[in-house]
Amino acid sequence: MVNKNEAPRIAYFCMEYGLHEEFRIYSGGLGILAGDHLKSAGDLNLPLVGIGLLWRQGYTTQLISQDGRPYDIYEEYKYDFLKDTGVAVKVCIRGRQVTCNVWLVDKYGNAPLYLLDTNLPENQEWWITDRLYGGSGEDRIAQEIVLGIGGVRALRALGIEVDVYHFNEGHAALAGVELIREKMEQGMSFETAWEFTRRQVVFTTHTPVAAGNESHHHSALSNIGAYNGLTYEQMTRIGGDPFNMTVAGLRLARNANAVAQLHGVTARRMWKDITGAAPITAITNGVHRGTWWDPRIRKAYEEGADLWEPHMEAKKELIAEVRARTGAQLDAQALLIGFARRAAAYKRSDLIFRNPGVIESLLQSGRIQLVFSGKAHPLDEAGKNIVSNLVAMARKYPKSVVFLENYDMKIGRLLTRGCDVWLNNPQRPQEASGTSGMKAAMNGILNLSTLDGWWPEGCEHGVTGWQFGEAYEGPDQDGHDLNALYRVLLEEVVPTYYEDRAKWLRMMKASIDMSHRKFSSARMLEEYVSQLYAPAVALPQAAATA
Ligand SMILES: *Cc1c(COP(=O)(O)O)cnc(C)c1O
Repeated sequence: MVNKNEAPRIAYFCMEYGLHEEFRIYSGGLGILAGDHLKSAGDLNLPLVGIGLLWRQGYTTQLISQDGRPYDIYEEYKYDFLKDTGVAVKVCIRGRQVTCNVWLVDKYGNAPLYLLDTNLPENQEWWITDRLYGGSGEDRIAQEIVLGIGGVRALRALGIEVDVYHFNEGHAALAGVELIREKMEQGMSFETAWEFTRRQVVFTTHTPVAAGNESHHHSALSNIGAYNGLTYEQMTRIGGDPFNMTVAGLRLARNANAVAQLHGVTARRMWKDITGAAPITAITNGVHRGTWWDPRIRKAYEEGADLWEPHMEAKKELIAEVRARTGAQLDAQALLIGFARRAAAYKRSDLIFRNPGVIESLLQSGRIQLVFSGKAHPLDEAGKNIVSNLVAMARKYPKSVVFLENYDMKIGRLLTRGCDVWLNNPQRPQEASGTSGMKAAMNGILNLSTLDGWWPEGCEHGVTGWQFGEAYEGPDQDGHDLNALYRVLLEEVVPTYYEDRAKWLRMMKASIDMSHRKFSSARMLEEYVSQLYAPAVALPQAAATA
């Protein structure tokens, strides 16, 4: 366990936090991870605070129109549980001062979360904290200035002392630019200020997909004010030209990590040519048990009682919710496969439909039922086509395929405890980790997945779940993985479900054995403390007083 007095004091920066479905300041996996991080830090009583933005409209509410297309709506949310710290800080955006109020959120058993909010009548640039991932280019940079530069200023104004600054994803990299500026203001050279900043910063990289690593033109950075007193030459040394937020994170940190072991290998390969980058280790993600582990399943597991009964309870709850939301009536006795993901091409949501000759009869007979959910980014037409395609499948097979619109934590919770099988088929090695499968595994839902993300660490084929595709990477990966999926589904999953309940129950138990500790955020936090946060590097006296 972690000793509070010895543990360094951490400030954790993230663009989004998924603490609860009612608090809509998250979009997906990154936010859920950050929310679970704060909850486990709270459970372990770690001296950690979170820094984020108060998104007034949050991420999109994405509904499906009559013609089967997703469309986006935004509402203004007000939360009565925010505590006003009375602290406000200023950042400079396009030459104008922008005031950021600082709110405190601590109602979810989480370590304190401080949220900056620009939505004030006095601000010309009030919109900055309106929509999570709502803009690109300069708009996004403005949000990153508030998070990074404003975040450091908020810590100072709140009087919170910090030993380690954790940038969770490159969005927070401008915090490093502020840490450098502070030191230069005290008289240090850029060189020395950068060096000392590096001793205080750790960085987590998230996506192995190149497009997911945001970069900006220097003209945009400079126009909007992200240089924060630094020069083009200095900023280029940190993030390159164009300025890549991940590269900046790696060069501003003393240590960095990827979020699963395979992702560590991929990330080290991906960034090996970046000079001056922090070494990248791997700390596999985990999920917060208090949030994601169904108490009924947990109790039955811990008491060695029958798992089927609580499983069926959760399954029937899911089926009732599906009926209430869509009108579709699924069959509780038939195999139910869940799939909920952001609509991104490499995740291949529609893979299972690609050979109707194999799958159609199983769907028509109801032997296999599928429940999907997921959002596309509002500006991503390709992603919206993926959603439309899933909706079309639900309309084609109304008795056995459903699509739940507006994926959120509530749907995530229902699905990862109420399905029988959790399907995941990313094109390896593009999934950094994935965490929904961990939630499922803990609840005795058997994972059926390609060996990407976290699954190589959890899979014992035919024991804790199933893999398909044998980690193949090469030509016609889709065709290869599709055939492998059908083979495992038809020869192993379906027969076990319908003909060997005893084995299914053994696998459910093995899945929980495998996951409940190893893929918990409690284990994850302990690794962050021992591998990334510690040893706390005290700033030399010179740095504190220079
Ligand atoms: C757990 C969760 C995620 C992340 O799961 P992945 O496996 O990474 O897709 C995303 N969104 C919601 C609502 C979740 O509950």
